[in-house]
Amino acid sequence: MALSGVRKGVKMYRKAIFPGCYYQGEGLIKDFAGIDELKDKRVFLLTTRSGLGIIEENADDWQKICHVEHALFCGECTFAEIDRICDLLKDRAVDYIGALGGGKVMDAARTVAGRLGLKFMIIPTIAATDAPCVSASVIYNDQGAVADYLVTRSPEYVLVDTGIIAKAPVRYLVSGMGDALATRFEAEECCRANRMNVCGGYNTNVALAIAGLCYDILMEHGVNAKTACENKIVTPALEHVIEANTLLSGIGFESGGLSIAHGIHDCLTNLRQTHACYHGEKVAFGVLTHLILTDKPGTLLDEVYSFCESVGLPVTLADIGITEVEDRELAEAIVSVLSNKASYIHNHCLHLTPGLIVNAMKMADAIGRRRKHAQTG
Ligand SMILES: [Zn+2]
Repeated sequence: MALSGVRKGVKMYRKAIFPGCYYQGEGLIKDFAGIDELKDKRVFLLTTRSGLGIIEENADDWQKICHVEHALFCGECTFAEIDRICDLLKDRAVDYIGALGGGKVMDAARTVAGRLGLKFMIIPTIAATDAPCVSASVIYNDQGAVADYLVTRSPEYVLVDTGIIAKAPVRYLVSGMGDALATRFEAEECCRANRMNVCGGYNTNVALAIAGLCYDILMEHGVNAKTACENKIVTPALEHVIEANTLLSGIGFESGGLSIAHGIHDCLTNLRQTHACYHGEKVAFGVLTHLILTDKPGTLLDEVYSFCESVGLPVTLADIGITEVEDRELAEAIVSVLSNKASYIHNHCLHLTPGLIVNAMKMADAIGRRRKHAQTG
């Protein structure tokens, strides 16, 4: 699927995009991080059921700053849902639309903001993906498959209350680490192959530096961040990893580019056995496959496998729900992605065939199994 918003035949330059302003800290949602610009403004929050409690808890404080209304998101970011929200806003005077929740409600609010020309802010309640800080939204069809990727623009404000993220189920944070784990390797591969990044330009030094920092933070603080989240406490390690999952991975992938790891993710989504896995969990297995295909040194493979094992990210096909699969099935899942010329799976300088990718996935699985066996004796 190609991203809308990049015109054919237009000369490409280096390009990087960023959210307007990023706030992060425990308790900042109570006063909307003290943002003066929100004073006396009309804010319309779109939220999920789990976000309703947060609205109830903070409504009195918010009303001292601005006028807040809210509506419940249906749960799926479809064109029908986007039309419905636009209708809701048709006769209302609104200055800001906000998304309070996870990736899908963010994508819906972002698209509505783009259509109606509204400013928008994102308030994530989980750190499961790098969706908050980007300009693109994923739109699904009624069957739950990806229907389109739309680029609008990056949010004016991203408000990450780490107290809220710390209380969310730890699996979300770990999945976010899986998504963030890919950022460095995909940006580096895009750059090496001189392929376009996701925002429609070539790579910048700042995007590569951010992608590298994202990886370093995961290696340094990933395990302790998980422990903090398991105990529902905010610590410096958790703060570092939330920033890596949200801000660094967001800028890193959009301005650095996607490559094989996300391409493998897309292949895995074609196998129904993986449907119970989160995005970042499938991406993590995609990273292992990516490292094997791009012939990375054994020491780096050891580091990445050890990291995945230490935080509980998948390292085998069984870990992502695939206990029995034939090469033919894997190859079919891969061909459907490879046949899409706009897929990120083509962002590399290798000559990849379905057979090579099947072998790399099987090798990633075999290494994961060998290591598990060695650890259990
Ligand atoms: Zn991702």
